[in-house]
Amino acid sequence: MTGSIVLFGPPGAGKGTQASLIAEITGKPPVSTGDMLRSALSEGTELGVEAKAFMEAGKLVPDEVIIGLIRERLKEPDASKGVLFDGFPRTILQAEALEEITEVSAVISIEVPDDEIVDRIIGRRMDPVTGEIYHVSFKPAPIEIHDRLVQRKDDTEETVRSRLDGYHKQTKPLGNWYGERGLLITIDGTGSILEVGALVTSAVNTL
Ligand code: AMP
Repeated sequence: MTGSIVLFGPPGAGKGTQASLIAEITGKPPVSTGDMLRSALSEGTELGVEAKAFMEAGKLVPDEVIIGLIRERLKEPDASKGVLFDGFPRTILQAEALEEITEVSAVISIEVPDDEIVDRIIGRRMDPVTGEIYHVSFKPAPIEIHDRLVQRKDDTEETVRSRLDGYHKQTKPLGNWYGERGLLITIDGTGSILEVGALVTSAVNTL
């Protein structure tokens, strides 16, 4: 399959976690706009400066900024056989722009109810050395690295509510949009990482 795959779902649904698995199965490089923006922010680039206030408020970064970022990323040689999008597109406008740039072969939607999202996000921690994501209860980190774990600045309850609100208003309608195009595969994301991983694997294997 030469097209790209989109991982779709609310913040905290496990898109990033499952992205590594799908990348391994398909050989498509994961492209996370959230990760790209966070690196820009920590490097203090112009893009980072532009995106900072939106990200910290749990708001979407303007479409034209994100589309420009993706347009550049897809010019890289490793993107020639399609990529695995995580956290993009998040608006219909972004999806329409993507249609012009590259072919989307499938959209895998990981569904998790709002109440569970809040618990998942607030307990989320990252190891800055390896980039590995943990959760204080669902996926505890080894004790020897506890001191270096960090929490994303936008992983507070207040910001999560704002991100969820934005998800329902701006991003969720995209699910139907892709459904109408016959591209949407829905997966129950409420199980353990392994259980969701098994569902994701069988979905990917049908492509
Ligand atoms: P994520 O890591 O995917 O949860 O993204 C973190 C933050 O980056 C989001 O809350 C937005 O502020 C911004 N962001 C990431 N991807 C997009 C996108 N496709 N469109 C707009 N904003 C985005």
